[in-house]
Amino acid sequence: MMNVNLLRHIPKVDEIIKNKAWQDVCEIYPEAIAKDALRQYIHRLREDIKQSKVSSIPSIEEIISHSQRIAEKQVASGLKRVINATGIIIHTNLGRSILADSAIDAIKNAASSYTNLEYDLEKGTRGDRHNHCLQIIKKLTGAEDALVVNNNAGAVLLVLNTLASGKEVIISRGELIEIGGSFRIPDVMKKSGAILKEVGTTNRTHMKDYEEAVTSSTGLFMKAHTSNYVIKGFTRQVSTEEIVSLGNKYNIPTYFDAGSGLLYPIMGKDAPDEPSITEEIKKGIDIISFSGDKLLGGPQAGIIIGKAAYIEACKSNPLTRALRPDKFTLAGLEGTLILYLDESWARQKIPTIRMIFEDKEKLRRRAKKISREIKNLKGLLTVSVIPILSEVGGGSLPDVSIPSFGLALEPEIGIERFEGRLRNLKVPIIGRIEKDRFILDMRTIQQEDETDLIAGIKDALFEDG
Ligand SMILES: *Cc1c(COP(=O)(O)O)cnc(C)c1O
Repeated sequence: MMNVNLLRHIPKVDEIIKNKAWQDVCEIYPEAIAKDALRQYIHRLREDIKQSKVSSIPSIEEIISHSQRIAEKQVASGLKRVINATGIIIHTNLGRSILADSAIDAIKNAASSYTNLEYDLEKGTRGDRHNHCLQIIKKLTGAEDALVVNNNAGAVLLVLNTLASGKEVIISRGELIEIGGSFRIPDVMKKSGAILKEVGTTNRTHMKDYEEAVTSSTGLFMKAHTSNYVIKGFTRQVSTEEIVSLGNKYNIPTYFDAGSGLLYPIMGKDAPDEPSITEEIKKGIDIISFSGDKLLGGPQAGIIIGKAAYIEACKSNPLTRALRPDKFTLAGLEGTLILYLDESWARQKIPTIRMIFEDKEKLRRRAKKISREIKNLKGLLTVSVIPILSEVGGGSLPDVSIPSFGLALEPEIGIERFEGRLRNLKVPIIGRIEKDRFILDMRTIQQEDETDLIAGIKDALFEDG
């Protein structure tokens, strides 16, 4: 039965907004937004009282804090910091790579001051934004020339449109890839104006398949890295060297979409299937494109490198204006690439690379430390430290899993409820459910995340709204 008395005890809006906590809310949200959220909360509270769902009136502070959450949901449900406990290092849904400090500093610099983005400081004349990462990319890859665009999908579109619009592009059937976010080679090809000429079979393609497809309309030989799958067993793909020899024989340009790509063979034998950009360039391919925010560990970008004449042609394509990178991309990319000048810097300072190489004993110790802090929540949670496998993700190294350590949590409140609550925390925690346990992989949890992680797990265990 409804408690009319209780309704009368809901504090008046005038009274609530005199509270100090209300002033704090109004520092974050405009007063009109905060008041609207407060009215919504009070309306909800009234309804709950009428349906006898509530038996006492929350304190003014609690009312304000609930209202703040409503305001938050309405205006700031945008980009949030989350804790990646999935163990997937380049997690496309969680923003792929996190950046090195030098990249962050460079972006901050570009954001807070005017820059020489398109100004030549030596000559005092208009400059070209495309010159910014140029020297370092050339130095690191050994390529003649380079062009940075918005992302690798844009790079593929631009290369195909520049070199093969109205012409045929010969590519193996086994390489007609689809990656997440509806990027499919055949579709991009169509949009670029190039004509797809697929050769060979899914598992096997030979030199002669390419050769037999050559006509006077052939504009390009293309290879695409099968980033997110492996074809195993009775397989044969034509190597970069073979494609290059075909290109030379028929005087047709050659292009390799490397997808993720390692800048150089930083992983030794651990990553046999991921092409290294420097090695591929040495083989004499005309153009390579790859992503900035996959294994490179930088900001979202598409990097096109290769022979000067072809890069020049891409630069002059009007599409380049639509695909051009912004100043933050260029700054962040340069701040990342600089670290590749020294392999030990790259391993230590680029988070993506650092996480791949992180020693699993260190991860086990961190997991133990956290487990000690949440073990005393007796009755609410069972915790164990377990060996697990991490993935690189982001369409790279599909066949590689890295031994890691994680926390396996068995919450009293039930696994689905727990998972949902972790996802809705102020700093959401994203992990995975496996056999009725919630698994947190230490490999992708940053050291700076640990305090929020522990607080978040505790929050999620207690009853609250
Ligand atoms: C990831 C990928 C792309 C798209 O790159 P984005 O940087 O995500 O636009 C294109 N081709 C291949 C082979 C890829 O793996």
